[in-house]
Amino acid sequence: MHIVFAASECVPFAKTGGLADVVGALPPELVKLGHEVTVYLPLYAGVERHIEGEWKYAIRSITIPFEYYNRFAGIVDGGKRAGVQYYFMDCPELFDREELYGPKGGEFPNNWERFGLYCRAVLEAAKLLGVPEIFHVHDWQAALIPVYLRTTYAADPQLGRAGTVLTIHNAGYQGWFPPPTTERLLFPWDLFTMDKLEQFDTFNFLKGGLIYSDILTTVSRKYAEEIQTPEFGEKLDSVLRGRSADVRGILNGVDYAKWDPATDKHLAARFSPEDLSGKAACREDLLHAFGMEHVGPATPIIGIVSRFAAQKGFDLVEQIAPLLVDRDVAVLALGSGEPRYEKFFRDWAFWHKANVGVQIRYDDSLAHKIEAGSDMFLMPSRYEPCGLNQIYSLKYGAVPVVRATGGLDDTIEEWDAEKGTGTGFKFGGYSAAGLMTAIDRALAAFQDKSGWKRLMLNGMARNYSWEQPAREYAAVYKEVAGRRN
Ligand code: ADP
Repeated sequence: MHIVFAASECVPFAKTGGLADVVGALPPELVKLGHEVTVYLPLYAGVERHIEGEWKYAIRSITIPFEYYNRFAGIVDGGKRAGVQYYFMDCPELFDREELYGPKGGEFPNNWERFGLYCRAVLEAAKLLGVPEIFHVHDWQAALIPVYLRTTYAADPQLGRAGTVLTIHNAGYQGWFPPPTTERLLFPWDLFTMDKLEQFDTFNFLKGGLIYSDILTTVSRKYAEEIQTPEFGEKLDSVLRGRSADVRGILNGVDYAKWDPATDKHLAARFSPEDLSGKAACREDLLHAFGMEHVGPATPIIGIVSRFAAQKGFDLVEQIAPLLVDRDVAVLALGSGEPRYEKFFRDWAFWHKANVGVQIRYDDSLAHKIEAGSDMFLMPSRYEPCGLNQIYSLKYGAVPVVRATGGLDDTIEEWDAEKGTGTGFKFGGYSAAGLMTAIDRALAAFQDKSGWKRLMLNGMARNYSWEQPAREYAAVYKEVAGRRN
């Protein structure tokens, strides 16, 4: 089957979060299963340095109808990697910028135009380069593809039979724009109604995708249930409940070629379930990276690697911060994002140098060192569609302490000391007390060395590679293609 992926991020070309990892990893797995996969991405500034070989256009210019003038885009042929064909939409006035969505976490005011036209360009390009059986579109930036397909292009003889799958990587980002966006993207006004694209008097990209896609998937089983409730649905829960028969949860895999302590080039020493001895050298190396060599060998290290966003639950960490530094622990955090949380972590480390180390930046190598050198890994997220770091942590023997939500709940099983089963520690309700008791359970378990080793090995034995999720996606494509025929 031929599948077109449309997304705003994909490693190694452009990344701000987990979306890029998924769009980078899933297509090659699908190729291994015998499918043909084409990925369309915007040509942001800087993407070209990742394109190998000769620079060539697959299409010199396609015309994208727009308001009172047209826009023109080229389609750059990025060649094939691991059997996957990459194309880039070259429209410098929209995409020739370093930031994907806006300066310093903000939004470009014309993101509606950038991603609206990107969606239309993918459809136009596919007509010339190959119409797939399935358009698999990701998040709000690509969510208008199913909308265009079933409205503007409904009578198109080439595109008419193609099916659509929309994956929601994070329902917190929907693409809300003012009502005139409807006509500026050349949609008829009768699409701007409550049962279609309108929501609270805004034009909502993601909502359009939810209504018009054949099947909706999200990145864990638990999150697929949660987004159908008011607490997690980000005001789209009723739309999602209306489509509940077509909502699927498929847990993300991770790339063990990059995240395996037995082969990881970023580490001071390698280790594996058969030989854990290298983890001690990783601990030393990590403490050194934070200038915290004074932390003794009996003190557990709690690692954090995260975007600093409200989603990630750091307001709870802020509430327990005074209690935590009274315990015998060292907290080492790497992250960046909202100024409020950057300030909290900076201040915390400043006042409690003995226990707390913080580095405010994005640093892939240090992220690997934290996974390898920590005893525990903290993710108290308010919500977490899938989460990758807890899955890496399992592999690196850094026992996850997590809130039981979304993918965190699906991937972490509470430790049972009597039976010797489980992989981490979880708390349910979103409260500081819940977080503190989960950490205290972990600290108590850490005292029993043989139990702790069992717990680490349980996690290290778990396998979250992409093979299984790729099969599940392939089954979804088959179902959609069956319906369309
Ligand atoms: P999200 O996509 O919501 O940010 P995930 O856990 O799904 O959360 O994925 C986050 C990815 O980004 C992981 O690969 C993680 O290691 C990486 N990451 C996040 N913040 C940093 C940072 N400051 N430095 C290095 N890597 C980071």
